[in-house]
Amino acid sequence: MTASRIRIVSVLPGLLGTYGDGGNVLVLERRLAWRGVDVEVVTTTVDDPLPVGGDLYVLGGGEDEAQVLALKLLRGAGLATVLERGTPVLAVCAGLQLLGSTLVVGDGTVVPGLDVLDLSTGRLERRAVGEVIARPGLGLPQLTGFANHGGATVLGPAAQPFARVLSGPGNAGHADPDEGVLQGSVVGTYLHGPVLARNPALADLLLTRAHGGPLPDLPVGPPEALHAARLADR
Ligand code: GLN
Repeated sequence: MTASRIRIVSVLPGLLGTYGDGGNVLVLERRLAWRGVDVEVVTTTVDDPLPVGGDLYVLGGGEDEAQVLALKLLRGAGLATVLERGTPVLAVCAGLQLLGSTLVVGDGTVVPGLDVLDLSTGRLERRAVGEVIARPGLGLPQLTGFANHGGATVLGPAAQPFARVLSGPGNAGHADPDEGVLQGSVVGTYLHGPVLARNPALADLLLTRAHGGPLPDLPVGPPEALHAARLADR
């Protein structure tokens, strides 16, 4: 059944909003509004419980301290239920890391993650920073974005990489060809940009999943031009 109104949950953007990742929610909202589809955005703060009835959840990047606080607030908050229901989730950078089993933050502390994805994150010797181009699965066109993380994420057997890196750093730094993660209803990526502003086809894939069926096409416009321009920069 398709949803008549799509409820997007922006999870703690005050903590997980590094490098403009809050823009992902704006992109999702605009692409629904352009199609005349009713949309509601629920933005959670440190004072709110996580709503579990959303159609799409969005987590962004965050610096280590903010990330650890977000993790504390999300522990036992219902994300596991959201995933059991098969609700789509976009998790970027810190958002991706905190869904794994453990992560190591800047001072070397090992922090247990929410353990809903089969991945763990150690620490890079040097921060992975740079433009990335990658070939994703899911029938999507090439991805463009930029990475900026100190974590080195390694996937376990239940998780698959979202994309194969063609240029720039991967999950565990410059030698790693894996970009992001796919597991269940989660699409995880290290890409900022925001990633959905750079890659409108990924935004539409998430929206189609949230809607539960196809959405009307949009005319090709500035988002597609930006996507093509960033790929051409390579
Ligand atoms: N704090 C994490 C790291 O440095 C995530 C960074 C980010 O979200 N950009 O690996």
